[in-house]
Amino acid sequence: QPSRVNVPLSGGREYDIRIGRGLIDAVGAEARNLGARAAGIVTDETVAGLYGERVRASLEAAGLRCGIIAVPPGEASKSYAEFARVCDGLLAQKIERGDLVVALGGGVVGDLAGFAAASLRRGVRFLQVPTTLLAQVDSSVGGKTGINSPLGKNLIGAFHQPRLVLADTATLDTLSEREMRAGYAEVAKYGLIGDAGFFEWCEANWAGIFSGGPERDEAVAACCRAKAGVVTRDEREDGERALLNLGHTFGHALERLTGYDAARLVHGEGVAIGLALAFRFSARLGLCPGQDAGRVANHLALAGLPTRLQQVPGGAGDPDALLDAMAQDKKVRDGQLTFILAHGIGQSFIAPGIDAAEVRAFLEAEL
Ligand code: NAD
Ligand code: ZN
Repeated sequence: QPSRVNVPLSGGREYDIRIGRGLIDAVGAEARNLGARAAGIVTDETVAGLYGERVRASLEAAGLRCGIIAVPPGEASKSYAEFARVCDGLLAQKIERGDLVVALGGGVVGDLAGFAAASLRRGVRFLQVPTTLLAQVDSSVGGKTGINSPLGKNLIGAFHQPRLVLADTATLDTLSEREMRAGYAEVAKYGLIGDAGFFEWCEANWAGIFSGGPERDEAVAACCRAKAGVVTRDEREDGERALLNLGHTFGHALERLTGYDAARLVHGEGVAIGLALAFRFSARLGLCPGQDAGRVANHLALAGLPTRLQQVPGGAGDPDALLDAMAQDKKVRDGQLTFILAHGIGQSFIAPGIDAAEVRAFLEAEL
């Protein structure tokens, strides 16, 4: 019995997220329900090999014309070149406004296919079929789509909400341990942001999420409910949605400093270190009990995630380099930054006006 989370949006728009094992075989029926006559599957080569034909079969069984466009796996595919290739591929398949783009894969595919769907014919409907834990709990929900510019990550994009999200939790059975752990950092993040009870539940149940027990579906549903709530209240990130960036100011800086090289650090690993840092920094500022900071780091470490700057392969650089990376190279060494900090587990808040000198001293002590 799959669970269902509804995402109400402004202007009467809404969509459902469905979570359960085996849902990729329902893509065809759902696409037909939406009235589409053709579907363009956008995926990466790895996911195409694992699940592409099953999704194609499901669509064809439902009477839809369909084609598959596969990009190379990895962040480098969120590029102008792959974006153009995907758009032209969809046009060649004669995908019309009433048809569907199906994003089958992790966050890279979701962001790229979603942006192609937003741009093609000024907006074609799209369906998210996330196949990584990160994509199921985070990137497939909320409508942020886009690609990278040589000048920075996610700088080119659009808000384009999916018509439906089908999160097939059985697809995570083939995900590598490392990608699973990386996605788990985002799961834990939801508890740390605003739900101490969920964090406690994670401490007791994390192993079941990894092994594919019923806890996995429960966790994905809980995260989707949390994200849906935030997206409903703040669709375009004017306020509260920024809380989802807990751990990401530090995390993004680490990704920048390691050159977005997945061999060194994947996003979720940066986030794990960032979450631990955000809590230790909050404790250092006297905002949060040191005990909570300890509990956060212990749990992430137990799940196999890094929690310290020393664990960044090849080193995390010096405090000034980190500070510059954090401010995206704006000159803030003497200025102020905005952080997401916490009064405790489940009690995060937006903290503008944090002195760069304070951050620097903290990083010095951490390194
Ligand atoms: P990813 O899409 O690169 O997937 C990670 C790896 O797992 C890839 O090599 C992929 O081929 C492989 N893979 C995917 N599904 C698999 C499966 N079921 N079995 C085996 N292998 C599988 O990475 P990701 O972590 O899913 O997503 C990261 C991206 O998401 C980043 O580009 C980030 O910017 C973006 N993101 C977007 C949002 C948003 O709101 N739009 C939020 C968070 C992250
Ligand atoms: Zn993230």
